[in-house]
Amino acid sequence: MSIDTAAVREPAQAQILGATPTNLLIDGQWVPASGEKTYTIYDPSTEEPLIEVADATPADGRRALEAAVAAQAGFAATTPKFRAGILRGVVEILRERMETMARLLSMEAGKPLFESRAEINSGIDFIEHFAEEAVRTAGNYQINPVSGGRMIVVKQPIGTSILITPWNFPFSQAARKLAPAIAAGCTVVIKPATETPLVLLAFAQALMDAGVPAGALNTVTTSSPNDVMEPLIRSGLARKLSFTGSTAVGVKLLEQAAEQVLSTSLELGGNAPFIVFDDADLQVAIDALMMNKMWNAGQTCTSANRIFVHSTIIDRFQEMLVERMAGYVQGNWAQDGVNLGPLINARQVANVAAIVDDAVAKGAKLVVGGGLPDRPGYFYQPTVLRDVPADAVLNAEEIFGPVAALIPFDDEPDVVRRANDTDYGLVAYVFTQNLHRAVRVSEALETGNVGLNRGTVAYAAAPFGGVKKSGLGREGSWEGLDEFLETKFVALQM
Ligand code: NAD
Repeated sequence: MSIDTAAVREPAQAQILGATPTNLLIDGQWVPASGEKTYTIYDPSTEEPLIEVADATPADGRRALEAAVAAQAGFAATTPKFRAGILRGVVEILRERMETMARLLSMEAGKPLFESRAEINSGIDFIEHFAEEAVRTAGNYQINPVSGGRMIVVKQPIGTSILITPWNFPFSQAARKLAPAIAAGCTVVIKPATETPLVLLAFAQALMDAGVPAGALNTVTTSSPNDVMEPLIRSGLARKLSFTGSTAVGVKLLEQAAEQVLSTSLELGGNAPFIVFDDADLQVAIDALMMNKMWNAGQTCTSANRIFVHSTIIDRFQEMLVERMAGYVQGNWAQDGVNLGPLINARQVANVAAIVDDAVAKGAKLVVGGGLPDRPGYFYQPTVLRDVPADAVLNAEEIFGPVAALIPFDDEPDVVRRANDTDYGLVAYVFTQNLHRAVRVSEALETGNVGLNRGTVAYAAAPFGGVKKSGLGREGSWEGLDEFLETKFVALQM
């Protein structure tokens, strides 16, 4: 179902946009891009322009990085308690500004408001977590077992870091990187996705208000990410690159980072198998699937891409799925009752349409949806495909849309083999009530994360990340902080 409106312009919307920084944050000051260059941000649920933001040039990017490098020694010398205090302070500020932050996020990403509020809360969880971890960067001290001297191991900030985030979770993905970088004592240049800079700019202002020193946090918005970021990555001025986005761009950045042997963390694309065995609790499985598949209209790296359902229960599962799909209401994020937002842009709609059309052309059955609703905004209908053949493109590529692709299977070794038959390894989901099978299959799946009888795996306390072409390194847990620390060993002769 779709609620059809012209652009819903809340009175509050213009006021929120008017109060949001739109320039570059360099050395503690909001400054315009060289030549006052700007580009336009759009609301994907209406296709209407929202606001202009600074369009950085390579020279602007360089100034931002130089400011971060100049601030590094001073920031590294602050105490962990001081840095934890900044993070606790920003949590308070973000809670006070929750509605503003959520509305900004909805405006630029099109997400229904309840999803935006949940994303702000999820980001806050990560910031709180790293405020607590900041004071626990313990090293080690021991007697050298051979010489009797002393072995001192210390953890030090890795240094100035370049952070690049995607449009699908513009706030929480930034929080997962900024909070551990600040906790560790690393100064940063952060570049949000071209499409969704606004919530990050408001977040940066909140961090400044919480006391981040000038130069420790710099933001760069640009419509030419390659031109601006490549020289920074290759410059030799930074010590760390942390990127979340597509595998194609991640591979390119890894090549650029290799030149300076830059420490690199990559959170890349996924191709999650969602496996429902015949002994699963189907209600648990369908609830988990709806949450997983339809959150952010399916534009999630952890989204179930291939839904393997045992052939004895697939008809029943399909019925449940179709019934639940009918409950989605698409529309502008500000309207009551809307629970499914748009895709981010026209290119994304075209990608999803091509993936569905390919599956159908190769023999998949289109059960519901499969088209574009007749309304403004970048929407794609909630869609169910059945019996998707092995040669369909969606077996190899992220769908990134509200499309549930059902694939039957008959036995455990076969479904594990098919689940692993992908270049990606971010997350897999397994639904079974058989304990031995649950353990066996979780261990056999080649992914960094497994959801066992649940459809979400990302929490602040858990190490999240991919294997294979899904990435390098982890975010969350103490491991997320370790990504921004270097280990130093001091050998002391007695
Ligand atoms: P993207 O790779 O197109 O862009 C990601 C970021 O990189 C954006 O800020 C973009 O402006 C920037 N960028 C693009 N080209 C660049 C270049 N040549 N040089 C420097 N920066 C460049 O990805 P996206 O479309 O924004 O996000 C969707 C992708 O992100 C999906 O593949 C999704 O699976 C992945 N993702 C992964 C995780 C994870 O935790 N593993 C989380 C969210 C999204």
